[in-house]
Amino acid sequence: MNNKKFRSYSGCTTCRGHGTDVTVTCPNCVGTGYDPHEDNPFAQCHQCYGEGETTLEICPDCGGSGEAQDPEDE
Ligand SMILES: [Zn+2]
Ligand SMILES: [Zn+2]
Repeated sequence: MNNKKFRSYSGCTTCRGHGTDVTVTCPNCVGTGYDPHEDNPFAQCHQCYGEGETTLEICPDCGGSGEAQDPEDE
């Protein structure tokens, strides 16, 4: 076996290798719980319902595989 593409950690850090049901900071309000697209500055975020975080069925970083993806850019 040749470890020519050896990676120190092969698991996705976002979902910790689970791939599914991963809790992330709400991308719509970035954790504030308020919807930035509403005129009312205190409008509750419709995506996380004010929680500031949301659970995704499929991890956005690994696509549900649980394996880390090589970033296209840094
Ligand atoms: Zn939100
Ligand atoms: Zn993941």
